[in-house]
This record gives sequence, structure tokens and C-alpha cells, in this order.
Amino acid sequence: MKYDIKDLSLADKGKLRIEWVDQNMPVLQLIRQRFEKERPLQGVRISACLHVTTETANLMRTLKAGGADAVLCASNPLSTQDDVAASLVKHYEIPVFAIKGEDNDTYYRHIHAALEHQPMITMDDGADVVSTLHAERKDLLVHVIGGTEETTTGVIRLRSMAQNNVLGYPIIAVNDAQTKHFFDNRYGTGQSTMDGIIRATNTLIAGKYVVICGYGWCGRGVAMRAKGMGAKVVVTEVEPIKAIEAAMDGFQVMPIAEAALIGDIFVTVTGDIHVIRKEHFNVMKNGAIVCNSGHFNVELDLDGLETITTAKRMIRDFVEEHRLTNGKCIYVLGEGRLINLAAAEGHPADVMDMSFANQALSVEFMLKNAKTLEKTVYAVPEDIDREIARLKLEAMGVTIDVLTEEQKAYLVSWEMGT
Ligand code: SAH
Repeated sequence: MKYDIKDLSLADKGKLRIEWVDQNMPVLQLIRQRFEKERPLQGVRISACLHVTTETANLMRTLKAGGADAVLCASNPLSTQDDVAASLVKHYEIPVFAIKGEDNDTYYRHIHAALEHQPMITMDDGADVVSTLHAERKDLLVHVIGGTEETTTGVIRLRSMAQNNVLGYPIIAVNDAQTKHFFDNRYGTGQSTMDGIIRATNTLIAGKYVVICGYGWCGRGVAMRAKGMGAKVVVTEVEPIKAIEAAMDGFQVMPIAEAALIGDIFVTVTGDIHVIRKEHFNVMKNGAIVCNSGHFNVELDLDGLETITTAKRMIRDFVEEHRLTNGKCIYVLGEGRLINLAAAEGHPADVMDMSFANQALSVEFMLKNAKTLEKTVYAVPEDIDREIARLKLEAMGVTIDVLTEEQKAYLVSWEMGT
């Protein structure tokens, strides 16, 4: 078996951590139990490119239980948990190509290694596998039946490929399932981002100005949690409706040029490029902390920052001090890569349970229905989304009401007015 990981001797620690989170992934467990019996993925080669975490490990186990022949590479150079990678190789016999802190060349070498598997299904988080396959390994397209995509950024890239008629096979946008983005993007990013900032810096949140750039699902989550910890939250936006929402949620809304002057901690979660730039870094307070929890490492203009930096040093793990030409110091966390996965462990299992249940069931759906699908981006079927919600509620021990016959009739009638 071919693989490329940091250290196989970390495997036992990884296995315990994988088992620890499995307890909080009840929906995925149920799917795994059914997959073991029904083997719906028998013999299907899957190349997955996801954050190599304990939660992902339980997804990989589930795919394998369904009969899949799956390999895994990292979807970000800094998010790999090396003990998990080791355990997947040693205990679960799943090939992994991922090392925490790998450089860009190694990152892409690992993506190519996963592609060597000649996938019938690709599973992406950010669309790097799909784009590498289409750009450099078109010869592999003949094997591919379909794919899935985990995250907002990836879905945006794929939609653009579909619109330009270059997408070679159908892909299901797992991110767009309600049981994914309502919870993973909001509560997951909310908690794991604060966790990453705190683990990296051990800074107090209470009383600080926390500036959140972007008020999408991720931004809403981070703002909510920062507020809960006592921060004075400032939001920056470009969309008028989201800006109103942020204002009515009780946050100060202003342009980044103004927020840069008052912020103590900055978090970008926009999915866009160069949201915080040189002119903003230049006016920040001495000691400001800057990080990103969205998209790739492009939300902070680090090249621009470099041009006004006179000296740099790593002052703690994941904390780089930049001394600026104006004499002030600012602190960039985790090289501007997703702080929640670089310095913490990504989203907790409880939300990844639903995200990865969507992944597993979307793969099953794709295999059954690929012949009828076109080379474009599809939503997760609504019945899958609702079934995951139902199972999650059941696992949480929450019961809800059912419509009475009278209510059902009322909801489809138009005759009854004032
Ligand atoms: N691939 C890009 C951006 C995506 S990261 C990059 O790496 O820069 C955001 C995605 O990470 C989310 O959609 C979420 O589902 C996933 N994620 C968050 N926590 C995770 C975890 N613990 N395990 C696996 N994936 C996780």
C-alpha cells in the first residue's frame, strides 16, 4: 500500500481520538451500519481531498464499510492531524497522502498521488482535485462517474466551471444542503474559529474589539460566539442585506478602513481575495491580531503586508510577529490559512456528523443516478437532507410535533381568509 504521512508511530493516539469523536457522530454511525450490510459502494474507487481530521477519518471508515476503495489527501497544507493520518493507514488500511505543514509542491504532489488511484468518485473540499484533474489529468476523466464538494468556495469554483461548459462530470454540492451549511458553516465555524484564535494566542476575548469581515453563514457564527465571550463585535460587509442583518443583530457595521483603526482581533470569513490590505495593516493598533477562517489563504494580502514589514519572528506556534515600518507590531495567525483548522481541530464532530452524512449519502445517490445526471452542479436531494435532520434530532433526543389532519388541510388550502 502506497501512502505518504509524517510518522506511522503516531497511529495509536490517532485511533483513540477517532473513536472519541465517533460517539458524537450518530447519524454517520447509522449510515455506516447500513453500508456494512448493503455494501452500496462495493468496488468504487474514491479519491477524497478533505481536511485530515478525526471527523474525516470516520467518514473514510464509513465509505470503506460501504465497500469503497478510498484514498485520502489533504485539502489544506496546515490542517492535517498527523496521528489521524497514521491511524487511517495502520488501523483502517486507507491510503493517506498528507503531512501537516507540507509545502505547496508536496500538497500538489499529494493531490496527484490521490488522482493516481483513478477515481470513479471525487470528493473535494475546495475543488482542488477537480481543478487539477481537469487541468492536468484529463486522461482520467473516462473513469469518473461523479463527485461531491464540501465547501462554499469549492461550489463557487464548480459552478463557474459548469457555466463555462468545462466541467467533465456531475457534482453534488454537499455544502448547499441545509443540514450542512446551517450548522457546519455557522455553529462549526463559530466555535472552531474562536477555539483556533484562543489556542494560538491565549488572548482574552472579553472587552476586545473583534472585527469580522463577511457576514455569511460563517461570519454570523463567529460574530455570535465572539459576542457571547464579551467582545465588542464589528462587522464589515459589501452586501447591503447582510449589512442590515448584522446591524439588527446588534453589531457595529463599518468599512474595513474604519474598522482597521479600532480592531484588536480581525477575522476574515468572506471567501474573497485581499479583504484586509496593506493600507489597513498600516493603521492597525500596536498588538493587533489578524487571522482568516475562510476560503484559501488569500483573504489577507500578506504580500502587501510584506512590503511594510521590517522584521518577522515566530513568537508562538501559529503566531507570527510583523514589525512594521511605522514601528508597530501586528500578529498574523497560521500564515493566514484557516485558523480553525491550523491552530485548533476544525469543527467539532457534532456538526461534521451532518456534513459527512450528506457526503456519504450523496456518493450513494450519485452512483445510483449518475446516468441520468448532466455535467453540472446538483443540490443534495431534499429527502436526503430531511432524513439527516430527522436522524440527528432522534440522536439528540429531541421530539417535535406532527401536523394534524386539520393543519395539513389548512396549509394547502386557499379558501380560508381573514
Ligand atoms: N479547502 C479550502 C476551504 C475549505 S475549509 C481550504 O482549505 O482553504 C472549510 C470546510 O472545512 C468546511 O466546509 C467544513 O465542512 C470543513 N471542515 C471544518 N471542520 C472540519 C473537520 N473537523 N474535519 C473535516 N472537515 C472540516
